[in-house]
Amino acid sequence: MGNNPLKLQAKILLALLPLVIVPLALLAALESKLPAFAPRAMLLGLASIAVFIVLGSMVLRALLTRPLEALKQAAEQLGQGSQPGAIDVRRKDELGELADLISNAGRDLKQSGEKIRYFAYHDSLTRLPNRRLFSEYLKHALAHARRREQSLALLFLDLDDFKRVNDMLGHQAGDVVLRELSGRLLNCVRADDYVGRQFPNPTEGQTVARLGGDEFTILLPSISLPIEAATVAERVLKAVETPFLHGNSELNVGASVGITIYPNDGMDADTLIKNADMAMYHAKKLEKNTYQFYREAMNVAAVKRHTLENALRKAVERNELQLVYQPQAELKSGRIVVAEALLRWHHPHEGLIGPERFIPLAEETGLIAPIGEWIIHHACQQAGAWRAAGHHGLTVAINVSGVQFIRQDLVGLFQSALNESGLPPEAVEIELTETSILRAEQSIFKTLPALKELGIRVALDDFGTGRSSLSYLRQLPVDKLKIDTSFVRHITVDPKDAAIVSAILAMAENLKIPVVAEGVETNAQVEFLRRRNCSYIQGYIISRPVSGDVLPSMLAQAAVRE
Ligand code: C2E
Ligand code: MG
Ligand code: MG
Repeated sequence: MGNNPLKLQAKILLALLPLVIVPLALLAALESKLPAFAPRAMLLGLASIAVFIVLGSMVLRALLTRPLEALKQAAEQLGQGSQPGAIDVRRKDELGELADLISNAGRDLKQSGEKIRYFAYHDSLTRLPNRRLFSEYLKHALAHARRREQSLALLFLDLDDFKRVNDMLGHQAGDVVLRELSGRLLNCVRADDYVGRQFPNPTEGQTVARLGGDEFTILLPSISLPIEAATVAERVLKAVETPFLHGNSELNVGASVGITIYPNDGMDADTLIKNADMAMYHAKKLEKNTYQFYREAMNVAAVKRHTLENALRKAVERNELQLVYQPQAELKSGRIVVAEALLRWHHPHEGLIGPERFIPLAEETGLIAPIGEWIIHHACQQAGAWRAAGHHGLTVAINVSGVQFIRQDLVGLFQSALNESGLPPEAVEIELTETSILRAEQSIFKTLPALKELGIRVALDDFGTGRSSLSYLRQLPVDKLKIDTSFVRHITVDPKDAAIVSAILAMAENLKIPVVAEGVETNAQVEFLRRRNCSYIQGYIISRPVSGDVLPSMLAQAAVRE
């Protein structure tokens, strides 16, 4: 209250008022006793004092009251969070300093407000619009397209194996890729159009945004034909294909793109984003570095997948899973030395489902962890039972998914399964596919030595189908190679396959790593492999996968015909 400048001025005037009132009162009281000229002199004096007070009050107002009022107003604006306008106090004294301080604080406030607004709508790493801003653009662009009866395309991009970059080279390398990628995406959309950095009118060009992680979207707000979206997708995939530089090394990263079109595939923003995501997911399944248009059928597939996922969740507790065992025989002696555990699912409505249909789903959803635990436990129990029945030379081979290495304490799991079943560790072998290693390299490199230390052996499964077979042979403690069925199938008729299998066998012999040929079905294939010193074979020629109870009856027989 006391801070109000007007009141202050009034107080000062009140304080000065006695200067006029007191002489006037004195004059009235002493009028008869004073000489004749005195009243006039006194009145003159009083008039001067009055003039002095009026002038003083004007000066006071200019020097103190008005600046204080201006400062008060500015401080109030600052307190309300807005930037004060220009403060009309241009002085070199304390009031001037105060005015500068308030002005600077206002400027800082404005700048940090702009920053907060910017980062609420932009991704801090790439400076591209984020999901929030993108969704606003999309709604805006949809309204525009609707009014003009135009088509609009939405591209959804997701990097392939980006997690591998982060896992192998650290998050900094990942950040470098994402920043560089955002630049390349911006270059892919036409240069004369809007490119996501400024605050544009999104209806005028394409918008690139980062939705999070390695997910980007490109909005083509006005297209005449879907093929235009495909052209942009191709341009984008080509841009991603160029290796990314990190220090002195080159990183190869692929991408998958899903495309959806308004109004063909959906009318609102949420549906379009969902459909583009689904199309991207299908592109990922096809092959690396490709694009897919959304199709209605994808929705059906998604619903099916969802239903299957729910059923798989209950499969373990409902006892619907079963392990069957397929023998591997030593070629020289014909003895069955290993039985590979293969998973089957007895679906209540769909009947028997093979692992290739549901293992990838289990991996994606994380269900592989409880299922994998169940497999390890049951396979070891079964092998313990064979041993107890006197089949001491039989090893059980268990397929282990890369995801299990990431999600589970495999060493602990195997240790407790071995303890429970009383199985020696050398009676257990794990099979790892190259693709599965690729997805979980870090975890596998870390855990595999500990599993080896336990005494468990490691086989490299489906050898030749992955991308880096040879480097894994060098880096991982591999005890066995399993040549994939696809190479073995035609060895007797296709000279190329024959040459590949011969080369793998010769290389493995030099490395002193025994080889198992998978999917052997004919005597001619057995002969071919025998001549090239293949150690073991597995396939229908010996046996299809059978139940754990049936397997011992086969052990007595010579499995391979001479
Ligand atoms: P895999 O480990 O390479 O298993 C060999 C596959 O080839 C089995 O298919 C087997 O039934 C099949 N096969 C064996 N001999 C022949 C033959 O002579 N001709 C032909 N055409 N095929 C033959 P299955 O049981 O369908 O398993 C497929 C794949 O699923 C397995 O390939 C393995 O990668 C995966 N899988 C199976 N069980 C499990 C499991 O318990 N855990 C994990 N993570 N993966 C599993
Ligand atoms: Mg296998
Ligand atoms: Mg295999």
